[in-house]
Amino acid sequence: MSNVFDIKDKAIVITGGGGVLCGTMATALAKAGAKVAVLDLIEAAAAKVVDKINAGGGRAIAVKCDVLDKESLESAKETVNAAFGRIDILINGAGGNKKEATTSPDLSFFDLPKDAVRFVFDLNFLGTLLPTQVFGKQMAEHGAGIILNVSSMCAFSPLTKVAAYSAAKAAVSNFTQWLAVHICQNYSKDVRVNAIAPGFFLTEQNRFLLTDEKTGELTDRGKTIIDHTPMGKFGEPEDLIGTVLWLLSDAAKFVTGIVVPIDGGFSAFSGV
Ligand code: NAD
Repeated sequence: MSNVFDIKDKAIVITGGGGVLCGTMATALAKAGAKVAVLDLIEAAAAKVVDKINAGGGRAIAVKCDVLDKESLESAKETVNAAFGRIDILINGAGGNKKEATTSPDLSFFDLPKDAVRFVFDLNFLGTLLPTQVFGKQMAEHGAGIILNVSSMCAFSPLTKVAAYSAAKAAVSNFTQWLAVHICQNYSKDVRVNAIAPGFFLTEQNRFLLTDEKTGELTDRGKTIIDHTPMGKFGEPEDLIGTVLWLLSDAAKFVTGIVVPIDGGFSAFSGV
């Protein structure tokens, strides 16, 4: 049993790897012996994560990549293949919300700008589908590989204010199930597709919603979240690691097409 979680020497691509949650995942996976390609739109963010990994004796490369641009993805694939050989695992982590697509006292649902809604929908849904086309093709053809998407609580029940983000993450969860079945039926029974649905983690994409910009105190929304989280706190990025290791290793070799909440019980609690 001891090595059932082994991911040593696996070549992993992680999009959005310069961010808070995926940077933590990249670092932990490299510590577990994987070779990690950290892809991000912001090269400096990817490089910062990679420098930390390599300084600690891990193996990682930073690759500038836009998950919404197929040419950029193809070029990233060439870079990763040249450095690490065939890719074993893809983590679709790039995603997020934006203020302009979020209702507020200053911005009603009826005035949400189409461009902002489209931006959020594209980033989360197309930003998962396009990298999967580019990196997943090798896996499907070779008959081995693992894809891990990053969904959210708002995929199970929509969250107030974030209409586009909720719809987009629901699409990510739905696509996770769809692709798991499609790949098994048409390509290989040994390519697994799953997702994690993190609960609430205080990061740059939601800080404006959960804390007061001036005082740093919790907003009413932040307080409501804590009140509805049986464990009574936001998650720490490290809380994702155990589940990620499970889904990326042989420990989950009969697991495909699921979305795992990592949420301190938020999705189990009706509020009463
Ligand atoms: P983050 O903003 O810290 O990280 C996102 C990263 O994606 C950034 O480094 C950003 O540069 C990169 N990125 C943005 N657009 C890109 C593009 N077009 N191409 C490539 N990279 C791009 O956010 P985070 O909170 O660490 O979120 C990571 C994932 O987890 C996202 O998919 C997010 O929706 C999801 N998530 C976050 C929470 C939370 O509470 N923070 C909860 C549930 C799900």
